[in-house]
Amino acid sequence: MGKIYNVGIIGGGVSGAVIALQLAKNNIDSILFEKETSLVNGPPFCHLHAGGNLYPDISDEQCKLLMKQSIDMARLFPQSIDKRPTFISIPKSEKYEIEKMESRLEMLVDYYQKLVDEDPSNEILGAPNNYYKIYTKEDLIALSDKPSVKRPSSADEWMSNTMKFIDHEKLKSPVIIVQEYGWNLFRFGAQAQLALNKTEKCSLKTNTMVTNIKDVRNQKLDYNWEICTRDGVYKVNYLVNSCGFKTGTLDESLHLNVERLIEFKAAYVSKWKPISGLIPELIFHGERDTPHGMAQLTPYCDDFYQIHGMTKDITLFENGLIQSEFNKAQPEFNEGIQQKLQGAWAEGEIKTRTENAIDFVAKFVPSFKSAVLGGPPLFGAQQIPGKDPNLRVGEVSFPSKSYARSEIVKASSALTVANQIINKIQEEKIIPTICSQSAQYLLLDAISKNEIDQLAGELAVQRGYPEALSRLLIERN
Ligand SMILES: Cc1cc2nc3c(=O)[nH]c(=O)nc-3n(C[C@H](O)[C@H](O)[C@H](O)COP(=O)(O)OP(=O)(O)OC[C@H]3O[C@@H](n4cnc5c(N)ncnc54)[C@H](O)[C@@H]3O)c2cc1C
Repeated sequence: MGKIYNVGIIGGGVSGAVIALQLAKNNIDSILFEKETSLVNGPPFCHLHAGGNLYPDISDEQCKLLMKQSIDMARLFPQSIDKRPTFISIPKSEKYEIEKMESRLEMLVDYYQKLVDEDPSNEILGAPNNYYKIYTKEDLIALSDKPSVKRPSSADEWMSNTMKFIDHEKLKSPVIIVQEYGWNLFRFGAQAQLALNKTEKCSLKTNTMVTNIKDVRNQKLDYNWEICTRDGVYKVNYLVNSCGFKTGTLDESLHLNVERLIEFKAAYVSKWKPISGLIPELIFHGERDTPHGMAQLTPYCDDFYQIHGMTKDITLFENGLIQSEFNKAQPEFNEGIQQKLQGAWAEGEIKTRTENAIDFVAKFVPSFKSAVLGGPPLFGAQQIPGKDPNLRVGEVSFPSKSYARSEIVKASSALTVANQIINKIQEEKIIPTICSQSAQYLLLDAISKNEIDQLAGELAVQRGYPEALSRLLIERN
């Protein structure tokens, strides 16, 4: 008889990879199936949402959750965190009020201080009192005379570099620098993959598509599920569905109906002239899905910049956000979007959308007009559980016995989901109760920076992106 695994995980994105790592840390064996050739190959991510400052419309509760979950993930994967801050501004034309953002930031400083008081290792966003800094118009004018700093180390230096490029007359005063960092998906994927390759507790099956699930829970066998792939059938006690936007496909094969949204989005890679000092990520807020939605410029190494523009001719797409139909769990994109998901973009569309993105940013950063196409877009689809497209914290649900469904909306929620699943597995007595949890993460800590550098670079190139996208602006030792 073949081996019976405690947990079978379908989907090796951020969520599936972190679940497998957390199970291995707790000595629980698992088998992880990923249809692509490497892990974390789904929708992209570039921003660690440690406070939710990219979303003026979400609740304080979601902001706090995003901050806590981001800190937890950054502690595990420090080599993927780019410690450059984020510049937040509101164009004069927009409805948002800077005062509201300020009072939310004050609330976040108190919350961050509380997290640091509970555990000093949580202080990964700098000192709580330096979490954000506000700059009035007068402050900005004073800073604009300061020389550029190649590698800034204070909020003032980041802001003075920014002032060399932005048209601050278009922005409401004040503007903000906040300690929301960058998050490198290639480095994250490399560290997760290297760690999972090293542990005997996880059987990692990349290049393996799950084609069917057989529910044998009522057949009085020694296991609950059979997971079918082209090369065999695998027996598991507990099933985890972490298929991202395809989560509904498994739900349907288990005859479960769930309301969910799925959304296709893209960010564009551009190359700009060399500039004399690093700049933070630049955010120009705006109402999503209007012609003046948020613009986000994310700096990478070697003068590459990634652009999101929350309008239909840049990051968002006509029919890009769809919901499950009555009695169905898996929404289906139209043919055009399905083709894009496979990488088959219509000729010229990448160039046009990248140029739209460059023009969009150039409204606030006039010299960015000279930027050019720098590589293929980073794109993908994600799920949003329920029917609120503004939900930013999705976690996990347990629709039936021995079955968990990961429903993360932001990559930072993955560890919370993994821990909730481990609690459930103990509750269902799939494994004995775990008595003591080790605070250390030996498996992840054993992966060296050199190994991550090497594999992250390879992953970027294999996927068609410049190798520079796998490096951090602020190198860590
Ligand atoms: C343009 C864009 C920008 C984003 N930016 C950010 C950001 O800055 N910060 C942030 O936190 N989040 C961001 N997100 C959201 C983030 O990308 C997702 O929340 C996250 O990647 C979801 O992870 P997941 O593991 O749930 O799903 P996925 O990453 O989609 O993983 C699911 C995996 O399951 C595999 N799979 C599916 N079906 C099968 C099967 N039958 N057999 C085997 N394998 C299967 C897929 O190949 C895939 O690898 C962004 C999303 C988009 C689209």
